[in-house]
Amino acid sequence: MSDQDLAASIQRAAVLGAGTMGHGIAQVLAMSGIETCLFDISEEAVADGLAKIAGNLDKGVARGKVSEEDKAGAVARLSGAVDLERAIEGVQVVVEAVPERMELKRDLFGRLGAALGPEVLLATNTSSLSITEIADATAHPERVVGMHFFNPVHIMKLVEVVRTERSSDEAAEKAIALARRMGKDPIDVRDAPGFASSRLGIAIGMEAIRMVEENVASAEDIDKAMVLGYGFPMGPLKLTDLVGLDVRLAIAEYLSGELGERFSPPALLREKVARGELGKKSGKGFYDWEVTRG
Ligand code: NAD
Repeated sequence: MSDQDLAASIQRAAVLGAGTMGHGIAQVLAMSGIETCLFDISEEAVADGLAKIAGNLDKGVARGKVSEEDKAGAVARLSGAVDLERAIEGVQVVVEAVPERMELKRDLFGRLGAALGPEVLLATNTSSLSITEIADATAHPERVVGMHFFNPVHIMKLVEVVRTERSSDEAAEKAIALARRMGKDPIDVRDAPGFASSRLGIAIGMEAIRMVEENVASAEDIDKAMVLGYGFPMGPLKLTDLVGLDVRLAIAEYLSGELGERFSPPALLREKVARGELGKKSGKGFYDWEVTRG
């Protein structure tokens, strides 16, 4: 099947988890002409996710990036549910974006496997967990892939399509075609710790922190070296502040367990996290930030 045929075979989707990533994924699916049901465990979370999508679309209209017509179409294609069976009725694809806990994801994939035919594509948006282990919890693990979106989903172009040893070519190709239909620029990655993005991003981030520890240069100058010398849009230390030092520490600990010493978090990172210097969200990381609480 061609890319277009594969993507066109998807008319209905469910997104599980209406948080930061789930609402963004649902928004982009609906904007791509796909009937999308946003599922969460509470009515409040679903309403909140749908309200955030409406807010994003309103901003898009105000900036002239989204037409009134496209916005109305997307809103009409969106629905919400707190009942899983209802959410996944008649879908060709499910994208899971619940919290990063293996047992939670395995439980959901077990239920999806029992309820959905083998032709339904099951994708997880996990940023670090083993997709092989998630897929093992479901019937027909060959239809499971990772679709790793980036935040904010409606703006960031990258999607890592992650295949396990058991993923069928058809499942991976369908996910790639779907990502393209969503206006994204996907990459094809094998299931390995940190996939293609976090592994390199963390390696550079950890080394930059070691350089601050060793007084090689100031945080500003290390970042400037990468921005001006290597064309990075943002230096690795500023990026660490934006992502959150605690989040990066957790990923580095996970990767050092899986891939070895070279990912060991530097002492300075641990000390800063212990002091509550978590980056932008706490007002201080490698830079000082003004904290804006909404
Ligand atoms: P989040 O905490 O913002 O949202 C998670 C949502 O899932 C919440 O609304 C919660 O109520 C809901 N939920 C909890 N249990 C559920 C269940 N059993 N069924 C359905 N919904 C349930 O989390 P997030 O930041 O959107 O992350 C979701 C996933 O995406 C994680 O696997 C994370 O690693 C991954 N991810 C996050 C980012 C990011 O920048 N935040 C980027 C890429 C991938």
